[in-house]
Amino acid sequence: MNQGNKKLRNLPAVETVLNAPDIQQALKETPRWLVLDAIRTALDQIREKILSGVPISDEETGLDRIIPLVLESVKALGRNHLRPVINATGVVIHTNLGRSVLSRETMSHVTEVSSRYSNLEYDLVTGNRGSRYSHVEEILCRLSGSESALVVNNNAGAVLLALNTLAEDKEVIVSRGQLVEIGGSFRIPDVIKKSGCTLIEVGTTNKTHPRDYRNAVTPQTACLLRVHLSNFEMKGFVLEVSRKELVQIARESDLPLVEDLGSGNLIDLSTYGLRKEPTVQEAIEEGVDLVTFSGDKLLGGPQAGILVGKKTILDRIKKNPLTRALRVDKMTLAALEITLREWMDPEQALKRIPALRMLTLSSAELKLRAEKLSEMIRSRIGEALVVEVEQDLSQVGGGALPETPLPTWVVSLYSAKIPVNTLERCFRSADPPVIGRISKDRFILDARTIYDHDLEEIALAAEQAMGFRT
Ligand SMILES: *Cc1c(COP(=O)(O)O)cnc(C)c1O
Repeated sequence: MNQGNKKLRNLPAVETVLNAPDIQQALKETPRWLVLDAIRTALDQIREKILSGVPISDEETGLDRIIPLVLESVKALGRNHLRPVINATGVVIHTNLGRSVLSRETMSHVTEVSSRYSNLEYDLVTGNRGSRYSHVEEILCRLSGSESALVVNNNAGAVLLALNTLAEDKEVIVSRGQLVEIGGSFRIPDVIKKSGCTLIEVGTTNKTHPRDYRNAVTPQTACLLRVHLSNFEMKGFVLEVSRKELVQIARESDLPLVEDLGSGNLIDLSTYGLRKEPTVQEAIEEGVDLVTFSGDKLLGGPQAGILVGKKTILDRIKKNPLTRALRVDKMTLAALEITLREWMDPEQALKRIPALRMLTLSSAELKLRAEKLSEMIRSRIGEALVVEVEQDLSQVGGGALPETPLPTWVVSLYSAKIPVNTLERCFRSADPPVIGRISKDRFILDARTIYDHDLEEIALAAEQAMGFRT
């Protein structure tokens, strides 16, 4: 105990650490309170260690050890919490990693519009107040073939808004097979309830017939809802009423048909070796009255919820006070406009919208990138890890095209000495963090979602992970 007391007394005072030249240097770029916080935390940790009776050397309580600790924690405290990571998972629309990546051109427009004043709600022709929604409405109508359009915060908001406007205190008919959960926090039955509507489930889990819908229509019915299954598939003894039939049933009963498409796909992806996913244009053309979809899934734009359809319906939605609560900001609108302009030429969209570009990369391009990465890693760490280039499968993600394997090329890392979980953690704690996936006992870096300018940083992370560099 005496020994401990002596150690405690020997700990430098906060003031002493603060006056050290390196710390004074750090103070030039960092607020004083933050540096003081870091010093107190470092000293507290050592104090706790001493008090707990853990043997501790004299060096550990010396300034030479404490100062680097403080500087490290100053750096960590000063770092942004939300920051870029390298996505080496191969999941293109990765909800946890920010969904769709926006291109530099898109972001440069966002910067331009939001670092200056803009005509966000100002009509440059008349000099009067304008609508923020006007900037993308026309292009959305053109792309989807609809009469009217509106953009809100996200697709969950779009569905909520649509149902609240059309069916508050009334009934919404949905097939049991379409009462899906998307990403844990979005469940169709819950959204219907929160919209103030009563859910009328029809059919069974695997089969719903046209008569199920017809029999459920009552004077209380306000609309029919069709939901894209998005993140799963049903196979075997299954039957859903086709969109065309559903349009027919809605017309007979003079009810609007709303469709939540999930991903906002605008092209036939089967042309590009992917599976066919319903398009927004098809839904409109087949007669759906209101279609909702996300801005940041297959559309490849910013987070947004897009509603397209009949003008009479959208006019009602625009007057709903909830629209104001769900409104998009100017940065989103700026990014969305650029993304939609890219879509006016689908060939260009595939090249310039990052998510689409990643989805349509050729095997040769992927292989080349994986080989380049493996070379760069090998040249930094030599034989310290087994580095191999292999064929594997990536995922689309974002609740789009489930069960669609995307053949890809990956770099796989293996060490007989380092457990794969440790390897994964080392890459994850790099700066920028590198997020890969574990497959069996290998750490996998998928070339599909890696940028060429990420390669050097991944190689550096490998070097750090192997302890060659700190
Ligand atoms: C993804 C998805 C949503 C939610 O969209 P967000 O833009 O994430 O709010 C809703 N419905 C379906 C069918 C989806 O796939």
